[in-house]
Amino acid sequence: MGEFLHNCSDEIPEDTIMVPHGSFISYLSLDFIENIFSVPMAGNKYLFKWESDRHLERKWLEGAGIKIPMSFENPLEIDRPVIIKLFGAKGGMGYFVAYDHEDFERKIKGIKGSYQIQEYIVGVPMYFHFFYSPLKRELELLSIDKRYESNVDAIGRIPGADQKHLGLSPSYSVVGNFPIVARESLLEDVFDIGERVVKESQNISEKGILGPFCLETICTADLDIITFEISARIVAGTNPFVPSSPYTYAKYGKDISCGRRIAMEIKDAIATDSLKEVTT
Ligand code: ATP
Repeated sequence: MGEFLHNCSDEIPEDTIMVPHGSFISYLSLDFIENIFSVPMAGNKYLFKWESDRHLERKWLEGAGIKIPMSFENPLEIDRPVIIKLFGAKGGMGYFVAYDHEDFERKIKGIKGSYQIQEYIVGVPMYFHFFYSPLKRELELLSIDKRYESNVDAIGRIPGADQKHLGLSPSYSVVGNFPIVARESLLEDVFDIGERVVKESQNISEKGILGPFCLETICTADLDIITFEISARIVAGTNPFVPSSPYTYAKYGKDISCGRRIAMEIKDAIATDSLKEVTT
């Protein structure tokens, strides 16, 4: 894909604006995106390294001062259930859960490459899709999804007594997305978390977040929202909201998807001669 884009860069019309997505970031080198690919991007391309590198991502979330899962550098320190995240895993493939240090050592045998050991948060996953408009200086909540993950979403269908005979342990391969509408009283916290993440993005990169981003969270039984990942761009979880979501419909009184919201921002920027404010 990189070679293709490189070769056809000259043929891309001058008035093109690229909307970057997950595959774009996975399959192209960050150096190519930041320094070689010259087509303007609707979004802040300098934040992609911050979402792709788990250490930088953690620094961003810590800097935002929001609740995040504990991270264990040394397996000997594991004192609670943990989830082991393999670096470079796509969509949670190969992740596993360990309940203590001995369990971790048993399960890590034979696994090559780097990984992160993170506190396992018991709760329900909620993925918040935000849009930050630099033109309006306003944070919007576009939609919320949860992922359909195999086999973790299947284990609950098997009675507990049978589970242990099947020798099952959860894995987290994403196979789809469901829409969610949040309990209303959560929204104040949700906006607070989103605003802190935007503010910190402006400390780590001059323009900060531009346009769509997603916070991947787990909401606990105490209604604490713990953020474990950030995507600084449009995400696949917005797909169930074509052509609209309850949140964008409530705000705009018409059908607005994430793609359409991006287009609206670009149009506003063209109309006010401020394209540089919404692109990098
Ligand atoms: P992507 O980069 O596509 O978002 P990924 O491979 O980085 O995916 P994660 O999104 O980090 O994977 O995690 C996959 C799944 O693992 C989550 O959807 C969630 O169900 C579960 N998960 C991740 N972190 C935690 C945690 N700290 N506690 C409990 N469950 C978690």
